[in-house]
Amino acid sequence: MKYTIGIDLGGTNIAAGLVDEENRLLAKTSVPTHAQRPWREIGKDMAALAKALLHQEGIDDSQVTSIGVGSPGTPDSKQGVVLFSGNLGWDRVPVAKELSRLTGKPVFLANDANCAALAEGKVGAGKGLSSLVLVTFGTGIGAGILLNGRIYEGFNFGAGEFGHMVICSGEEPCTCGRRGCWEAYASMTALVRQAKRTAREHPRSVLSRLAHSGEGLNGRNVFEAAKGGDAAAKGVVDRFLQYVSDGVVNVINILQPQAVLIGGALANEGEYVLSPVRKTAERDAFCRNNVLPRICCAALGNDAGILGAALLGR
Ligand SMILES: [Zn+2]
Repeated sequence: MKYTIGIDLGGTNIAAGLVDEENRLLAKTSVPTHAQRPWREIGKDMAALAKALLHQEGIDDSQVTSIGVGSPGTPDSKQGVVLFSGNLGWDRVPVAKELSRLTGKPVFLANDANCAALAEGKVGAGKGLSSLVLVTFGTGIGAGILLNGRIYEGFNFGAGEFGHMVICSGEEPCTCGRRGCWEAYASMTALVRQAKRTAREHPRSVLSRLAHSGEGLNGRNVFEAAKGGDAAAKGVVDRFLQYVSDGVVNVINILQPQAVLIGGALANEGEYVLSPVRKTAERDAFCRNNVLPRICCAALGNDAGILGAALLGR
C-alpha cells in the first residue's frame, strides 16, 4: 500500500493526516503553528509532524509517495512558494522546497480553500462531479473552485475571492479596503454585527437579552433565537440569508458549476440555510431550462483541508 500525507497549515494549528490509495484519512495529528516564529521552524515542525504520523501508524517512509500542503493566503502552486499570507505573516516563502529538502519527498502546495474544494469533489458532498464551488462562511468568506476535476486558481493564483465581490456598492466597509463586499454582509462576523445593531434597536427582544448575557451574541445563538420565534432575530437572519443567497446566485451565474457547496460554521444550520438559498436560486439564477446546480452543505468539515492537500500529488 502507498500513502500520501496532507498538511493543513493554519494560522493557529498545523494539522497533518495520512491518506491511503483509496482516499481514506487513516490518522491525523496537529501542533500549534505559533505563526510569529521564523518560517524555517514551522517547516521543521511540518516535517516532524509527518514523521510522527508514520511512526504512530507503523508505516515505512518508503511507502509515502508525496506530501501536499494547503496554505492560507496566495500560494504559487507551480513554484511551491507562498507569495503572501496575512495569517502567517509570510512573504515569498519557499515552503515546498524546504519541506522537500527535509523529507526527501515531492511536495505539492495549494491554497487551503482550494484543497478543501478538491477533497469535497473527490470524496465529499460533490463526489463524482467535475465542477463545483465550495464557499466557506466563517469569520470571512473563503472559496475554492474545481473545474474539469482540477483546482482553478487563476493565472496569478488569486482566483475564487468571491467574498470580495461587491453586493451593496458604497456601503459596509470591508477588511480588503472596498465597501459593500459580500463578506461584509454574509460572513458569520457580519451576521453578529447586524444582530448587535438590531439588538440595540429592540431592547425588549430575545436578541437584546442575549447581547447583554455573559455569552454575548454569536452566529449560533442568533440562529437559535430566530428559530425560537424572536421577531428581531428572525428579521436579522432572514436578511442575512438573502445576502447569502444573492451571492450564491452570482457565483452560479458566473460559473454554472454542477454544485455549490456551503461550508464553514454556516453549514451547521443545514436545511434552515439551504432552503431559502435554493428558493432564491430557483427564482433568480440565470439557468436555461431551469437546470440548476446542486446546492448542499459540504460533508468533510475540518478534514477537507488535510484530505485535499493529500490528494494534490495524485
Ligand atoms: Zn472585501
